[in-house]
Amino acid sequence: MSKFWSPVVRELTPYVPGEQPRERLIKLNTNENPYPPAPGVGAVLRDFPTDHLRLYPDPESRALRQALARELGVTVEEVFVGNGSDEVLALAFHAFFCQARPLAMPDITYSFYPVYCRLYGIERRTHALDDQWQVDLEAFGPDCGGVIFANPNAPTGHGHGRDAIAGLLERVTESVVLVDEAYVDFGGESAVPLVARYPNLLVTGTFSKSRSLAGIRLGYAVGSPELIEGLERVKDSFNSYPIDSLASAIGIAALEDREHFEACREKVITTRERTRRRLADLGFEALPSQTNFILARHSEFDAAQLFVGLRERGILVRHFGSDALRDFLRISIGTEDEMNSLIETLETFCR
Ligand code: PMP
Repeated sequence: MSKFWSPVVRELTPYVPGEQPRERLIKLNTNENPYPPAPGVGAVLRDFPTDHLRLYPDPESRALRQALARELGVTVEEVFVGNGSDEVLALAFHAFFCQARPLAMPDITYSFYPVYCRLYGIERRTHALDDQWQVDLEAFGPDCGGVIFANPNAPTGHGHGRDAIAGLLERVTESVVLVDEAYVDFGGESAVPLVARYPNLLVTGTFSKSRSLAGIRLGYAVGSPELIEGLERVKDSFNSYPIDSLASAIGIAALEDREHFEACREKVITTRERTRRRLADLGFEALPSQTNFILARHSEFDAAQLFVGLRERGILVRHFGSDALRDFLRISIGTEDEMNSLIETLETFCR
């Protein structure tokens, strides 16, 4: 605690991401993709003209925004890019959610959202998940300063279809509805086609998961030109460039290789379903997932102890300390071999 900190910073509990271990572990704790990015990304790194690094990047990131617009079936004016979707989310909180009325969100969702509420002094209104651990969209009404949730949700894994999101947008018309689609490529249904119909819908996405590029920070938002302009106003006020030239070239290369993208996500989905069945065989309740992770709990074995036991045997998963999730482990989907090791290790505890 420092006397130089402002009152907000004194009260702030920063978001703590999953551990990035130094030693070699089977790392199933931060939902990274176990497969490498598209081969074209390697070619960019090899061939990138170093002289270009002398110059500032394009302040409008047009090339990457154009590539994303093509991929997502929208116009360039409907696309915004930033350094990871976390940055895009932060800018969206600043641009849209600093309102007199509270921001509505599920009580269990991405734990970064409450951090930004505290930082920006935004009041939060939470709605409980339903008894299937799904976001209860019916609970969200028009009387709020905005709505935010992840779809599919994190860390629960369930995603609502586009029609359900459209139903919400018919009710909430006077504030921004932000749908965070960090995991949508693993079996969810994207709300991006609704952007043309609903000027208050903002959809965020990332290259960190399905594009295997968490190590370069690349995220984006899709929304009506008026929302994109709102994000640009905040961003420009920091006098910062959107993303660097190298990240832009890498992002474009990743988008160009559809075959690689499809093959990797198919592998992750197949491994996820197999893992879920095997967890169930071991007595776990493993929630259905449209993401690259599974949330699971065992009726007999304590999640905190399982977490420690796995860690001692070189396997890192996520255990959240919160009351609601105390019984659960969140397990990212790794390669088949990694998941075999996980299951074999769990077998030694649970049989
Ligand atoms: N949204 C959700 C729901 C996430 O789980 C994450 C990753 N932890 C992010 C956004 C941020 O992803 P990134 O900043 O890597 O794009």
